[in-house]
Parts: sequence; structure tokens; C-alpha cells
Amino acid sequence: MQTILELQNVVKNYGRTPVLGGVSMEVKEGEIISVLGPSGCGKSTLLRIIAGILPLDQGLVRIRGREVSDKRRTLPPEKRGINMVFQDFALWPHMKVEDNITYGLKVGKVDPAECRKRVEEIAGLLHLDGLMSRYPAELSGGQQQRVAIARALVTKPSILLLDEPLCNLDVQLRIEMRTEMSYLFHKLKTTVFHVTHDPSEAFAMADRIIIMNRGRIDQADKPRTCYLRPGTALVAGLLGAGNRLKRAVLESGTVGDTCCVRIGQDIVEGMYFPGEGRGDLSCQVRFRPEDCRWSSVRGENCFAVTVMMSTFEGGFYRIKTRTMDGDELCFLHSGPIEEQESGYIEVEREKLYVYGSADC
Ligand code: ADP
Repeated sequence: MQTILELQNVVKNYGRTPVLGGVSMEVKEGEIISVLGPSGCGKSTLLRIIAGILPLDQGLVRIRGREVSDKRRTLPPEKRGINMVFQDFALWPHMKVEDNITYGLKVGKVDPAECRKRVEEIAGLLHLDGLMSRYPAELSGGQQQRVAIARALVTKPSILLLDEPLCNLDVQLRIEMRTEMSYLFHKLKTTVFHVTHDPSEAFAMADRIIIMNRGRIDQADKPRTCYLRPGTALVAGLLGAGNRLKRAVLESGTVGDTCCVRIGQDIVEGMYFPGEGRGDLSCQVRFRPEDCRWSSVRGENCFAVTVMMSTFEGGFYRIKTRTMDGDELCFLHSGPIEEQESGYIEVEREKLYVYGSADC
């Protein structure tokens, strides 16, 4: 598969503040990439550099093998063969839906017959047939989103850039749209560079997820791999492993990718990710509330806890507990549990992530 987008060691500073600290990646033709990361990690900055809206300080960007970021001959956004869908859709309010979609083709001087064919095709795919003579103000948020996507796809860009494209839609619509968009992009074999802070959006849409942390890439893998094997403590936290034990201690004698940790008086096994650890026995243990189980008697791979609080959350109770070391954690349970009751938390070895983390 041909490489469509290539970034090599992209560095960007705002004044003296470093924002991108050397980002490298390749995106293949037809691939849907989701760049995921906490707010402020540099996702939009990266997107704007690819779009050509923002210059980089070091490194290079290639689109279809052509360098577009050379300081002396930077290729302007309109010549990069890219299109972008913005958070607020940015439709032209004075133009009807049909004119909004056709605009890019007219600017590109596409033959009128071809133009009509493409607009009809894309309007059909996005279910816009009956809305072509409306103005944007006469459309719902979801319909405006479809028009923005149609307008971006109709010119058949080399890369489609999506900047948090669903964040202005309500929850139900967001879930529907992300499935539909993923289907459409795969069907049209569109190469997509999608930026989001919402893991479920990235899971639903991406072939590959790139997780950024403070201007660097922490992990780049298939969605399932990122979920099952989060490579850093930040990735684990972002992908739902909200339980964090900072007082656990690594037992010496770690073998391969598994290890033993001491939590209070108990020793449990987990998956080991050495990362940028200090090389000593300090570590950070992470796991998901839904991946652990309460037991009033000692079972497999477990550690002792005391219950602090039970909160009703609809289909389940969230039980807050404390380890013997004083770390707090939650698990999900079918009913409430008495305050101060003692018991054990069981977590399978494959679902207990241990990071030799320098910032734990
Ligand atoms: P994200 O999209 O991941 O939320 P951004 O790329 O928007 O992050 O921003 C990364 C960092 O750069 C943030 O700390 C933000 O405050 C800062 N930043 C963004 N734009 C500017 C700017 N024009 N001038 C100075 N700092 C900026």
C-alpha cells in the first residue's frame, strides 16, 4: 500500500513552549488514523501543520512523496490535495446545500457533467438528496455535519483531515455518525487523519490509533492492541484503566512481559511495561473498574481492600475501596456493599498493567 502522508521528526514550539517534540509517522493509502490524546497534547497543532495552516520549526511533511513543508517553498493548503472538516462544520451560510457541496469542484474547474455526477453520488451516499435546496440554517446539526463531509469528500482529496468532527453533536447522534462515517470512508477508500479526545470515537472509526502525550507519540497500534496492551500509564488511563495504585511495589525478578507486585501484604501477577522507569522497584499499577471482581474470601490473583462507599449508577453500583497501602480504587458490583467491610479484589494477570513509570 502506498504511503500517502509521512511526518519526519516534526518539531513545533509556541514561543519558548515546546508543543511537538519530534513526531514521526506514516499513513498508508485508504487508512483511517485517529490521533487521540488529552487536551493540550498537540493534536490540533499537528493537524494544522499537515493542512499547511501552521509552519513547523523542524522536520518535514510529505504528501504522496512530495515534501510540502520546505520553509522556502511551503505548499499552501489549497495545493496539498487535502480537505478538512471542522468542529463547527464551517458551511457557507448564504449558499444552499448543493452549492456548498459543489463549490470546491467549481473552483477546481471540474467539467460540469462530471461535477453533477459526483455531487449526486456523494449526496446519495450521505442521504442528502432531499435537502439540496435548503440553507445550512434550515438543517439539524447532524445534517450540517453530513453536508460538511460531503463537501470535503466530493473533490476526492488525498487526505481528509477531521478535527473533533463529532464534538458538537448530541451523544446518540455521535454514536450513529461515527459508525456511518467509518463505513463510508472504508467504502470510498478515503485516507483519513482524524483528531479526537474521545477514545470510543477512535475505537469506532480507526484502523490505527496514535496516542499522543505532551507532544510525543506514546503508542501507535491497532485499536484492539491499544486497548488490551496499553503501552504507557497515560495510554492505560486514557483507555479506561482509571484505577491507579501508586504505592504498589515491584517484586524483584521480573521475567519477560509479566511481573509480580506487592499490594499491601499481597503479591499479585501483572503485565509489565518497563517504559521510562527509574530502574528501581517503584511502579504504577493500572486496571479497569470493569476488569476486577469483589470476593469476600481470598481467591486467585487478589489483594485485600476495605469498602469506603457504594454509589448507585443505574445498572450497577460503583464501589469505592481502599487498599492496605492507602490507594483508592473502584469496581462495579450488582449491589451495594457495607461501609468498612473487608474483602478482596481479583484481577486477571492479563488485565493488571504494571508500569515502571518515572512519573508515578
Ligand atoms: P490539543 O489539540 O491536543 O488540545 P493543541 O495543539 O491545540 O492541543 O495545543 C497544544 C498546546 O499548545 C496547548 O498547551 C495550547 O495551549 C498551546 N497552543 C495552541 N495554540 C497556541 C498558540 N497559537 N500560541 C501559543 N500556544 C498555543
